[in-house]
Order: sequence, then structure tokens, then C-alpha cells
Amino acid sequence: MSDCVFCKIVTGQMPSTRVFEDEHSLAFMDIGQVNPGHVLVAVKKHADNLYALDGAQAAAVARASVRVARAIRDAFKPEGLSVYQANGKAAGQTVFHYHVHLLPRHAGDGMELTWPVKNPPREMLEDYAAKIRAGLGKPIG
Ligand SMILES: [Zn+2]
Repeated sequence: MSDCVFCKIVTGQMPSTRVFEDEHSLAFMDIGQVNPGHVLVAVKKHADNLYALDGAQAAAVARASVRVARAIRDAFKPEGLSVYQANGKAAGQTVFHYHVHLLPRHAGDGMELTWPVKNPPREMLEDYAAKIRAGLGKPIG
């Protein structure tokens, strides 16, 4: 993906402020800094979104996220930390290279996410779950 901003960050063609990397993941400071200590954890090899990850990439980002989140907690002492990850424009994804936001949170920091709950009956939950189970396929490896 020659025009992908995060691929350019991975290769060093674009500058970034790095905090951690391993074979499959790179953690760097979000230039927007919604709150101080806001870090992005991205896959090194281009993947558009969650659906495109292989097992090694998924595991690497999860491990890096835990490790970096603990370091953010210790360095910035936030009251909380949100993990935010978007897939597709409708979900709010703006950079189409898989990444996770580690966002330190404070009461009244202006960050909002509304949950318009529907509370469907149990039978509907069972129907939704059956559709998902039918599509699980084999483990991602
Ligand atoms: Zn990319």
C-alpha cells in the first residue's frame, strides 16, 4: 500500500514518535493526542481492518496493547483507559490500516460514545448468536 500513511510510518518514510515495536506490531504516539499519552498500536504489515488480520498479527497487537496500556497507566495515572478500534467508514475508521487506540481517560474529558441499547428478547439474542456461530469457520491460526 504505497499511499498508506501507516505503512509509511512503519517503514520510516513518514516521521512518528515510537514507543514500542516487535515483529508484527508498532506502537506510536497519536499526533492528535485526545488526552496526553494517547497511543496507536498498528500492525506492521498492511491490513485494512480487523477482518484482514492473521493470528500472529492479532496476537501481537493484543500483547503490545496490554504492555503499552500498563506503561501509559503508570506514566500518566489516568482515571481510566479506553481501547478504541474501528472497522469501516460507518464505524468511524479514517485510516484504513488496522490500528487500536489506547486512550487515557479522565472524568469530563469530552470524549463521548453513546450506547443506544435495544434490549431485544432472549429469542432474538439466540437467533443472532446462531447466525454468528454458523460463520465462525476455522481458527485464524
Ligand atoms: Zn498500510
